Amino acid sequence: MSSQNPVFIPGPTNIPEEIRKACFIPTLDHRSPDFARILNPCLDGVRRVLKSKDAHVFIFPSTGTGGWETALTNTLSKGDRVLAARNGMFSHRWIDMCQRHGLDVQVVEAAWGEGIPADRYADILAADTGHRIKVVLATHNETATGVRSDIAAVRKALDDAGHPALLFVDGVSSIGSMDFRMDEWGVDVAVTGSQKGFMLPAGLAIVGFSEKAMAATKTANLPRTFFDVRDMEGAYAKNGFPYTPPVGLMNGLKLALGMIKEEGLENVFARHHRIAEGVRRAVAAWGMTPCARTPELYSDTVTAVVVPEGFNGTDVVTRAAKTYGVAFGVGLGEVAGKVFRIGHLGSLTDVMMLSGLATAEMVMADLGYPVTLGSGVAAAQEYYRHGGKTHAIAAE
Ligand SMILES: *Cc1c(COP(=O)(O)O)cnc(C)c1O
Repeated sequence: MSSQNPVFIPGPTNIPEEIRKACFIPTLDHRSPDFARILNPCLDGVRRVLKSKDAHVFIFPSTGTGGWETALTNTLSKGDRVLAARNGMFSHRWIDMCQRHGLDVQVVEAAWGEGIPADRYADILAADTGHRIKVVLATHNETATGVRSDIAAVRKALDDAGHPALLFVDGVSSIGSMDFRMDEWGVDVAVTGSQKGFMLPAGLAIVGFSEKAMAATKTANLPRTFFDVRDMEGAYAKNGFPYTPPVGLMNGLKLALGMIKEEGLENVFARHHRIAEGVRRAVAAWGMTPCARTPELYSDTVTAVVVPEGFNGTDVVTRAAKTYGVAFGVGLGEVAGKVFRIGHLGSLTDVMMLSGLATAEMVMADLGYPVTLGSGVAAAQEYYRHGGKTHAIAAE
């Protein structure tokens, strides 16, 4: 793999040079006021990206998976019922974690390529008149299939049923890249990590808790120590951590949040949408389709491209790495071999994306796909050169 080439995996993402430098700072005393100057801008900046006025933000040395565990163990007790949909590998893994913690998970199965079936959530919540369901889980962006679900619709299902369950959203591959509205959607715990929209190396679990979720921490009895948000909150009050903080990564996060603010959060979302739309036009020009079943489900951070019958998507990824030194994502779980994934999030430009599309075309031509070199690139170029404002395709 060439270190000069950008990566096109859906996380970890490309790291801007200045962020890489910000992560690599000399040791500083994390009990000194210097650390407060890193910690507090991180907490404020994350709150801004979550679009929350006063969420309790916590940053743990961990990854997104640790963020899931933080959400569950701080708010739930053994045997509590949780409602979850399984429509891809990441929602599946969160369900698995619930089960391993002794929670009673009511699983709604959905096709891989579909979004969260909010209508089925609505029926289940309306029928749960005894309010046994304590938490509703939602994976905002299924990174395995490139499907973005409608979190506002899940909120509406809860509200229409007058159901008091908490709403936990996995936004690991959406937050900081696609619009996320913690307050407006009534999200009680938002989960993300450092290595996707925040353009950092892996190593931080980043979560936001609502007041209602904080109240649940008082009665929850699942075992927790490292991920106890009460310890974290107590330490933050003194500008510190309950243990040694990952100072370098947090210094990088501070810079990343500043870069997002400078570009403008809505501009960041618009850039992700434009780049993603170029990818989708390329996929269409190849005569192929995204795994996401309908356009309103299309993710702006990752596209899982369904390969034609008789081809194996994993071969695309293997050959791209070996022959051209470029990384794409393999299909996971149920869609293993059936798709290859193009990650298009984080630090990325139209020009970088064109190189990824050109590489995918070379690989597919090498493997005998019925793809004309330049066809997808041209479709994306036509879109990008008008700043994504072309009217050539009526659906826009
Ligand atoms: C990347 C990702 C995760 C977390 O993965 P980690 O490797 O633990 O950071 C969780 N959910 C989704 C949707 C993801 O894309």
